[in-house]
Amino acid sequence: MKSLKEIYKIGPGPSSSHTLAVQRACLLYKEHHADLKRVEVELFDSLAFTAEGHHTFEIIRSSFKDIEVSISKTLDKWRHPYATAFDINGYDEHNEHLSLWEVASIGGGSIRIIDHDFGFEDEIYPHQHFDEVKAFVTEHNMNLFEYVLHFEPNIVEYMEQIVNQMLTTVKTGLSASGLLPGRLKVPRVSNDLLMRANNTSDKPQRDRLNLMAYAYAASEENASGGICVTAPTLGASGSIAGLVYHYYHNLNFSKAKIIEGLCVGGIFANVIKTNATLAGSEGGCQAEIGSACAMASAMITHLNGANLKSIEYAAEIGIEHHLGLTCDPIGGYVIIPCIERNAVALLRSFDAALLAEQMSEIRTNKITFDSVVRTMNYTGKMIIKELRETSLGGLATEVVFDSED
Ligand code: SF4
Repeated sequence: MKSLKEIYKIGPGPSSSHTLAVQRACLLYKEHHADLKRVEVELFDSLAFTAEGHHTFEIIRSSFKDIEVSISKTLDKWRHPYATAFDINGYDEHNEHLSLWEVASIGGGSIRIIDHDFGFEDEIYPHQHFDEVKAFVTEHNMNLFEYVLHFEPNIVEYMEQIVNQMLTTVKTGLSASGLLPGRLKVPRVSNDLLMRANNTSDKPQRDRLNLMAYAYAASEENASGGICVTAPTLGASGSIAGLVYHYYHNLNFSKAKIIEGLCVGGIFANVIKTNATLAGSEGGCQAEIGSACAMASAMITHLNGANLKSIEYAAEIGIEHHLGLTCDPIGGYVIIPCIERNAVALLRSFDAALLAEQMSEIRTNKITFDSVVRTMNYTGKMIIKELRETSLGGLATEVVFDSED
């Protein structure tokens, strides 16, 4: 498995595959071509279908600042082997072709540049499946956070930036108002939810409203193109950011302890990424929100001081009950159903943690984390392309825009 730095990345919303990954590749291309004067970018598949709603044009243009840019879309949904891919062709001042980069956005803002190796895909962990991780930590009598430190001894410093950005994202979202960008004309509501939380004397309801407000705040920031943290993607970034804010501000956990939890949640995302996918365009929303729920469930269980069995069980529940969840964002905007879904997943993760901790003492779970990941991968391949981040089916076809919208 690769570094947890490939799971948690800071970047502009609204989509890790459609903005962050695109930005990374464009900036890298620019860095490697000092003579660049003009670029042609061709978008395929999910990128082509949802570029407008996902702000892909803006991110390409801002990445190639001061360079002449032309962008085209190939709306042939079966053309490219990757679900989210694009080509970059660059030219110098004499219009000489510099090089072609075929870029695949492989989920959570990670990129693969065909026939080029920039070290993003270096294997840091010698394990691929959770069963192997479990065997290793059991043999070495360590917990999952110690496992991460064993292979990534310098990760804490990086994770401090991640926690700080998550806290900033939620805080910024909570104080913002107005409409989210785009033709849907959806107002931001996180601050309204927060006020409702503050106005209720019912403590359990206040806690839940707070969590919803935080998840909405981060997701609304993401939908507005704000700076967020992939966890494991940008579309699904609100659940973990909301959880971090809750642990820090309401439960008074230290940043060091929250980093532990994030690292534990990150291992589960890493296993999913290695054996299935984190991308909605590959596996539907189960890959994004299902994975975020698994991460959050594992994080809560770990921070509750539960044992390895319960942590795995919680992560497994987090995915299992999102199996088959499709990705059909209306208008290609990461707004409906995405924002609400982040809040729902965050609430579910507390239930998953509670259920796992209790059930682990009653009987042994028959479904391992690895087996639910295999099932998610299989299920994702069965989801038709129209329901995998193309906005060609499902909820996306329920709202018809007027031409003047
Ligand atoms: S529906 Fe889910 S997978 Fe699709 S864009 Fe929204 S959050 Fe991402």
